[in-house]
Amino acid sequence: MSDKFDVIVIGGGPAGYHAAIRAAQLGLKTAVIDAFVGKDGKAALGGTCLNVGCIPSKALLDSSKQFFNLSHNLPAHGISVENAKVDMATFIGRKDKIVKQFTGGVDQLFKVNKIVSFFGKGKLLKGNQVEITGNDGSKQTISATNVVLASGSVPIELPFARFDGKHIIDNAGALDIADVPKRLGVIGAGVIGLELGSVWNRLGAKVTIIEALPDFLGTADADIAKVAQREFKKQGLDIKLNAKLSKAEVKKDGVHLTYADKDGEQKLIVDKLLVAVGRRAYTDGLLADDVGVKLDERGRIVVDEHCHTGVDGVWAVGDAVRGPMLAHKGFEEGMAVAEWIAGKAGHVNYDTIPWVIYTEPEIAWAGKTEAQLKEEGVPYKVGSFPFAAIGRAVAMNEAIGQVKMIAHAETDRILGVHMVGPGVSELIAECVVAMEFKGSAEDMARIVHAHPTLSEAVHEAALAVDKRAIHKGN
Ligand code: FAD
Ligand code: NAD
Repeated sequence: MSDKFDVIVIGGGPAGYHAAIRAAQLGLKTAVIDAFVGKDGKAALGGTCLNVGCIPSKALLDSSKQFFNLSHNLPAHGISVENAKVDMATFIGRKDKIVKQFTGGVDQLFKVNKIVSFFGKGKLLKGNQVEITGNDGSKQTISATNVVLASGSVPIELPFARFDGKHIIDNAGALDIADVPKRLGVIGAGVIGLELGSVWNRLGAKVTIIEALPDFLGTADADIAKVAQREFKKQGLDIKLNAKLSKAEVKKDGVHLTYADKDGEQKLIVDKLLVAVGRRAYTDGLLADDVGVKLDERGRIVVDEHCHTGVDGVWAVGDAVRGPMLAHKGFEEGMAVAEWIAGKAGHVNYDTIPWVIYTEPEIAWAGKTEAQLKEEGVPYKVGSFPFAAIGRAVAMNEAIGQVKMIAHAETDRILGVHMVGPGVSELIAECVVAMEFKGSAEDMARIVHAHPTLSEAVHEAALAVDKRAIHKGN
């Protein structure tokens, strides 16, 4: 086979594999180079998301939720189970099997789409040549008219709490703990801290989360964050805000933490410490010095609104570029770039990218928060509706949280929807559709929603924007 391609994608994660499959669908001769090595020591496509991110974390969240429900939800239904136990080998093994199924699935999709895979590290050279250092150390160079950089991200490491893979761990480590730790410390009450903290808390670990910022979940709408914080506290997650870690020392009896909060210096000993303080774009060894691709002050590849780097035929997508570090943001960028390369009209609407945090209750939102609209001086009106008044949520014994819809005060256009409660990871989708079609709260209020479903909370919130919710006072 010739080593000249139409498209070479460096990175086989969500952004990269979407770019590759779409390019192949459009008739472009496509290759993907990926360096990820799975838990079994073999090359594994799918990047962070499929190997050590979205999918394995959701597998463990689901297993731990089943266990937690045995003692915390089922008794309310009159069902009791004595001596419930978790078999850790099955718990972790189920997750590993799911990961294998999906990483293997990407491999199959590549074969079906006649995409050529190279396993190793890709380095962009001048003239859209790419040097590949294979996982076995071998070297070869291939070239293409277009190169898509999709090298993703890696966890940020704290200089005073370096990962050792055993006591001080990152997301990959926290997805692979063999025995439930008695005490788990987490640095960062962000998405990973809350999701993976929840997993181990549900299995019985005493989880303490140390967060530097004074506000809990500052990027979410404040009303939603307040409900979530209250519920997490009830579940036993000990979240310490405005707390700054200064030292983490691994000793015989655990990891000794020193942090400062409003009351001064504090000490805490934990068995394991998960550091989840954000991720950084990963471009180590990706670019030869003379290729001309620029990085910004945070190390992200600089791109324009079409994910083009400014270097002829070189594009970049996903976590390695600006914007939220979300798999579905990478999916859309990957597909759009392939379409732009093929001379078609690609499209990514960054204003309607949904965020979901898969805790219990779940948290989901799209669009602007009230605080953002206030700051921007945009006039708005709000309608909210509690799950406590939703028959389906009560029947499920999960009547916690609310849906809050924000619409423009004059045009009624939906500007943001914020939710905390059961199943909101799915409910946010219809709000994204409405926003993408520039829908109004009135539009949503006039759309029939099945009864009894959780989606009625979205309908009632839309009615509430105009102060005409039926099942609550307005
Ligand atoms: P990545 O998935 O990081 O993939 C990049 C790939 O490129 C990797 O395989 C890497 O090895 C490879 N690579 C890098 N450099 C080179 C090179 N020079 N040569 C060859 N290969 C290279 N997002 C969501 O939307 N929903 C979730 O529920 C969610 N859960 C998450 C849970 C966790 C614990 C974590 C850590 C992340 C989660 N994310 C989630 C974020 C999501 O995983 C990322 O946004 C997504 O994986 C980014 O995709 P990407 O393709 O840009 O990069
Ligand atoms: P994050 O940005 O969500 O949260 C990091 C938290 O750590 C923040 O609250 C920050 O204030 C805090 N922090 C930073 N430095 C600190 C310090 N020195 N001490 C204490 N706290 C500190 O990052 P994350 O949780 O590491 O996740 C990384 C990214 O991965 C997310 O932003 C998201 O894009 C993606 N992700 C998404 C999902 C999802 O979509 N459900 C799940 C997991 C991860």
